[in-house]
Amino acid sequence: MTVPFKVDLTGKVAVVTGGGGVLGSYFAKALAECGAKVAIMDLNQEPADKVAAEINEAGGQAIGVAANVLDKEAIEKAREIIVKELGTVDILLNGAGGNNPKGSTDDEFYNEEEVKKNPELKTFFDLDPKGVGFVFDLNFLGTLLPSQVFAKDMIGKKGANIINVSSMNAYTPLTKIPAYSGAKAAISNFTQWCATYFAKTGVRVNAIAPGFLVTKQNEKLLFNDDGTPTARTGKILNSTPMGRFGEPEELIGAILYLASEEAASFVTGVVLPIDGGFSSYTGV
Ligand code: NAD
Repeated sequence: MTVPFKVDLTGKVAVVTGGGGVLGSYFAKALAECGAKVAIMDLNQEPADKVAAEINEAGGQAIGVAANVLDKEAIEKAREIIVKELGTVDILLNGAGGNNPKGSTDDEFYNEEEVKKNPELKTFFDLDPKGVGFVFDLNFLGTLLPSQVFAKDMIGKKGANIINVSSMNAYTPLTKIPAYSGAKAAISNFTQWCATYFAKTGVRVNAIAPGFLVTKQNEKLLFNDDGTPTARTGKILNSTPMGRFGEPEELIGAILYLASEEAASFVTGVVLPIDGGFSSYTGV
């Protein structure tokens, strides 16, 4: 991967949670390419090590660390390893998160007739509180707990900052995914809260809000085998003024900008949409 522009992160230590995932691995590689020493933190050691190995092979410096972002003790242990191997953290990128079918409905609109015809349909009334809680915890607590653990080392450190990952769902919820939408709205809100809370310490806190991206993982859900868009894809593209999906690489400029003290020293509490205009368009 080649970054769109270079910022100087030489000597900085970055932690990317969910760094073994699709977007997290892009973020980690971009930070490494700009000189940061990167800890790839993921639920499992293997994907974290794989991304770290790719960075090291490309001439960067990275380690893989396993930790559940919902387990504060595990994050603290991961912090000890990171501090020992790379030094105290300057940049925390909270990339772990995502949706889960357990927090989703099958229907877009409630329709009594449909429910009578298909009693198996999972509606709002069937949502399992545990499923909703799982999605909220993964996204919200999974951002709050690593921030608690790593921000302590950032206080008073020049250029230290946190980048969270929100979503288009945070502005206006998408159908079927109330838990994920609410959890990402909480991330945007928490980003502003933390930006204020840490403002006098020099620690900046910002977020990106990616729009709809195509990745190898979701390609099959978005397009039929013949390459034509699925019905939901058609709706997404019609709601995106640029009329296309984004690529993970298109998030990198925002990550580097927010991470760089030279570029963004007076920027804190922003949630930056990277969405082809989705959040600006009413559809009319
Ligand atoms: P992904 O599933 O590829 O990556 C998530 C990573 O987080 C995985 O490697 C997973 O192992 C790890 N993870 C999951 N639970 C964890 C836990 N409890 N502790 C530690 N690590 C854990 O997802 P992605 O598409 O790369 O998404 C990354 C972030 O971007 C998420 O917050 C997601 O909500 C957000 N996002 C993604 C998109 C998109 O289109 N892909 C759009 C908007 C926002």
